[in-house]
Amino acid sequence: MKKNNPVMKNLTNPLIYVWSILIVSLVLFNQCSLNDTSVYNRIRDYADQISVIDAHEHQHWPEEYGDHRFTFYNLLATSYLSADVRSAGAEGFDWNAMDTLSPDILWAMYGEALDYTRGTSYYSHFVKGFQKLYGFSDLYFTRENLTTLTAQIEENYKDYRTWFDEAFHKAGFELMFVDQYWKPFNTELDDRYFALVFHINPLIAASSRKPEKGSEPGSFYKEAENEGYEISNLDDYLVFCGHLFKKNIENNAVCLKNSQAYSRTLYYEDVPFEEARILYNKPSSRLTPAEAKKIEDFMFHWIINKSIEYDLPIQIHTGYLAGNGNVLDNGKPVKLNNLFLQYPEAEFILFHGGYPWTGEYAAFGKMFRNVYLDIVWLPQISREEAVHALDEMFDCVPYNKFFWGGDCGLIEESTGSLEYGKDVVAEVLSKRVQRRLLTEEVAFDIVDKIFRENAIEVFKLEERLGKEF
Ligand SMILES: [Zn+2]
Repeated sequence: MKKNNPVMKNLTNPLIYVWSILIVSLVLFNQCSLNDTSVYNRIRDYADQISVIDAHEHQHWPEEYGDHRFTFYNLLATSYLSADVRSAGAEGFDWNAMDTLSPDILWAMYGEALDYTRGTSYYSHFVKGFQKLYGFSDLYFTRENLTTLTAQIEENYKDYRTWFDEAFHKAGFELMFVDQYWKPFNTELDDRYFALVFHINPLIAASSRKPEKGSEPGSFYKEAENEGYEISNLDDYLVFCGHLFKKNIENNAVCLKNSQAYSRTLYYEDVPFEEARILYNKPSSRLTPAEAKKIEDFMFHWIINKSIEYDLPIQIHTGYLAGNGNVLDNGKPVKLNNLFLQYPEAEFILFHGGYPWTGEYAAFGKMFRNVYLDIVWLPQISREEAVHALDEMFDCVPYNKFFWGGDCGLIEESTGSLEYGKDVVAEVLSKRVQRRLLTEEVAFDIVDKIFRENAIEVFKLEERLGKEF
């Protein structure tokens, strides 16, 4: 064999050159992804030691769902995932039937549709709650692993109060804001865990639903009666609304909540008192839809003025609507634009990333000093959209304007929601650190702000938490 074969030399040199480049690239790529992972892990671990202020929940005690046993399927029925299961073709959840049906029959009814949802964020955030609290290690629910999980759930739900306390702390919560849309006049909450949110939908909706002679009054008018208020005109109506404000404030309400996009547009016209007064005097059944809307519009403007007087921020549902059928356009964030301009002293907190109008939503946080963004529920609707949208929001909006919320009925799902929220925030921030758009130090600060400090600041929680900040 000749040592210096010029043909071989010419062939091997380029090969060595190519291999060298490949090897160096691989080493660099590995190094780079190692760094990626460790930045992500450090930010994610940092998030885990924060005592979280969760700015939006609908926590129920199990008995509020009725007198039922609680298995996996009941937890599924209360969760967002139930809407994907229905969307995949399953029947609705009948709680009375679920009390007696065997696990095999329940799997036969829901298993196939449940499996079709394995790719959705509703599914994976729900799994995460069980991974965190129950030591559930599988990626998916199966007929087999649900037997063990249901046994654990039934055991925990024998004494839900004790279980809730344990899970609440294990998940990392310090305080949850609770919007009790299902019993909006209740002002009593366990303040070891919860802060009261004043749900103002009934104050708006009841203004165009006055009881007719001989008919059963709606819950708002019943409540007025129970509290000794007689309502025969708009002035009386506003006196009772003023009473509800005072009652909520006496019970330390931290903010107001408007979720009217579930039943009407978010465009609220500025209607003069005199016009609203005349319309209120008409029997509600004779109001045209446009007239009914005008009275309601007037009420929300009245409420905003009260929120300024009492210094209470207003949380507003925008964008996507939970469940399996509604008017998506109702919640388009841009419909609120006139209010942000008209009330610079009010504080508006927009919910859910305005999905699917996330850019429009971010623009308001950027443009207005008095508009804040709560990314609550966005990671559950679509994890990837949350990652993309939050990255865009960080490009546009100062980070003292963000909050996070869980938005669930029971502790397992809220825990999954928190895990998911932290994953999304850590992913977006670590990529920004990697791209040298942020230092790690500032990334940690952003995590603190989103999951805790912004809420303490904007909702004035220092005294409630009994600490100096
Ligand atoms: Zn909600």
